[in-house]
Amino acid sequence: MMKIGSHISSARGYEAMGKQALKLGASTFAFFTRNPRGGSAKAVDEADVKKFLELWKAEGYGKIVAHAPYTLNACSDKPEVRRFAREAFAEDLKRMEYTPGNYYNFHPGSHVGQGAEEGVRLIANLLNENLYEEMTTTVLLETMAGKGSEIGRSFEELRAILDRVRLSDKMGVCLDTCHVWDAGYDIAGDLDGVLQEFDRIVGLDRLKAVHINDSLNGLESRKDRHARIGEGCIGLEAFVRLINHPALRELPFILETPNDDAGWTREIAMLREAYRE
Ligand code: FE
Ligand code: FE
Ligand code: ZN
Repeated sequence: MMKIGSHISSARGYEAMGKQALKLGASTFAFFTRNPRGGSAKAVDEADVKKFLELWKAEGYGKIVAHAPYTLNACSDKPEVRRFAREAFAEDLKRMEYTPGNYYNFHPGSHVGQGAEEGVRLIANLLNENLYEEMTTTVLLETMAGKGSEIGRSFEELRAILDRVRLSDKMGVCLDTCHVWDAGYDIAGDLDGVLQEFDRIVGLDRLKAVHINDSLNGLESRKDRHARIGEGCIGLEAFVRLINHPALRELPFILETPNDDAGWTREIAMLREAYRE
């Protein structure tokens, strides 16, 4: 069964997210653990979570992919920004345990001129301070476009973070198709080559989820502007190969395309159509 879905608003709680996912024809989804631009998170309503878990189990669906707020920057040069990152990360990991065994994806961060090495060190610190043996969540580093001073634009930078994390079995990677393309990995022209490189440097066993987005810009543009599937520079054919690739086809595919509900419903149906069962 293809695992595909979009981002869904978490404003009305877990059961509402599950129902909304079903409405879109989705079998997984992503959601922000709190306002994507920061701020505090609502308390978890255990009865609501329970209803969601029952609904999801009844459908036979698997993992969901939570997304940390964009403002979470573990390697900022500002202490108060780093403090927010620590607090939000710790709190989010606690909340994630209400829905055991799922994914928590975050943007590694922007080093804002401190250099990639210092960025990697600060990101690994955040992880080492917060990961714990008993947690059931897997934390995913997202591949980034390389806009500004973003860390995670190369597989080597992801490797460097993983190498510094003590509980690295709690860690995985989420591949964002728009971001890797913008970072210079030609997933349209040479998907096999890109995945071989990923395997050599990071290891395909680390790859847990895919953000499936077309890009408004060309290869290595470092822009990070998402497009609807087939309406950008990556193109529909590349996505058909990607969702059917043996190394990727079992992973959850999350759409972060500029769409409304009708658009996501269409996109999900189109990709299901292109998926070889
Ligand atoms: Fe993201
Ligand atoms: Fe993404
Ligand atoms: Zn993006």
